[in-house]
Amino acid sequence: MNFGDFVQTVDYIICGDYVITMNEKLDVIRNGAVAVKGEKIIDVGGSDEIMKKYFSGNLIEGKDRIVMPGLINTHTHAAMVYFRGLADDMPLKDWLERHIWPAENRWLSPEFVFDATKLACLEMLRGGVTAYNDMYFFGESVAASTKEIGMRAVIGAGIVDFPTKTGNSADDYIRNAERFISNWKGDDLIIPCIAPHSAYACSPETLKKIKETAERLDVPLSIHLAETEWEVGEIISKYAKRPVEHLDAIGFLDKNVLAAHCVWVDDNEIEFLARKNVGVSHCIESNLKLASGIAPVPKMLSSGIKVSFGTDGAASNNDLSILSEMSTAAKVHKTFSGDPTVIDAKTALLMATKWGADALGLGDRIGSIEKGKLADIISLDFKKPHLMPMYDVYSHIVYSAMESDVEDVMVNGRLLVNSGRLISADEDEILRKASEWGKKITG
Ligand SMILES: [Zn+2]
Repeated sequence: MNFGDFVQTVDYIICGDYVITMNEKLDVIRNGAVAVKGEKIIDVGGSDEIMKKYFSGNLIEGKDRIVMPGLINTHTHAAMVYFRGLADDMPLKDWLERHIWPAENRWLSPEFVFDATKLACLEMLRGGVTAYNDMYFFGESVAASTKEIGMRAVIGAGIVDFPTKTGNSADDYIRNAERFISNWKGDDLIIPCIAPHSAYACSPETLKKIKETAERLDVPLSIHLAETEWEVGEIISKYAKRPVEHLDAIGFLDKNVLAAHCVWVDDNEIEFLARKNVGVSHCIESNLKLASGIAPVPKMLSSGIKVSFGTDGAASNNDLSILSEMSTAAKVHKTFSGDPTVIDAKTALLMATKWGADALGLGDRIGSIEKGKLADIISLDFKKPHLMPMYDVYSHIVYSAMESDVEDVMVNGRLLVNSGRLISADEDEILRKASEWGKKITG
């Protein structure tokens, strides 16, 4: 028997000068490595130790690399990338009613959503995002497109009370959602969910039916909540309650709900969201661009809510960058609270990884680099002018790193981006289609 008999063969060994684990102790391993077999991380440690225990034909070198868990975008409308920059610099109501809704009415189709979602996935993967939560129409197209490119997503079948191209009534949308869920439940990458748009676009009766359906089919829920001051006034005038109280009164809120925005929540509502373990997606850049307000994130964090980051749709952001959300949120909340210690770099990265996974209900499977977790891993090249010298790796990731620093991206043990290029689909083809659709949309 020789030494080789003790060496286990694995599919990948990914090395890094720094391996950021985001585990319970927030261990950072200098000269570390991760062993991946099938879809799972089977070991993580010092690279000497990992090299002794494992062999792989796919060894990813670690010089000048930061290896870390994939970033998680907990709220977006992926296919809206095709409306990026179509209408900017106007109030939310004009933006929606005069530009976005007419454009959606005219252009949305299964093909549009399939092609647009591909572009969104390409953009997110190239920016180090490995999982996202979507709320839109034509969920089958969102799921098929995401699955084809190899990304992980929780995909919400969108529900409103009014007719759109995908249905005539809430009952129609709920039936569609049930079909969508039965088609995708149990998939290794796609997790179906139900996504009522908001408490102002769905009646209490609709929301109750949705809640019953989600419980019966055991799927998560996501919803826009308290995004604008207008919404708070609207819900108070209709139901004599603030939005969080209203959703609670109809039994909607619990740990299976992911609430996007939560800009206009008061102290009682924050305490309630914390007690009920409701997931919160903070979409700072969209809120800033539409002048919706600044969510009280430091208060939410001190109440124990594990806030995560969402980009919202690219039509109101205008990109799907979680690196940028981290940096913006950390800076805006320091100024807004007058306290430069709030949302420090470690907290920002927790929000973008581990807490994002928790918000999606996947905290036991993704969000950190640990033995037994699914291999959703990215690496950044830090031999760049804006990342030198290196004193604090968290600081560099949150305040200095850019999408162009992302080198490799792995989802579920499959390498999708290598040396900054997508390898699971044809990038040029995705960009060509985006340009063709753009020409059609502008006539
Ligand atoms: Zn949204």
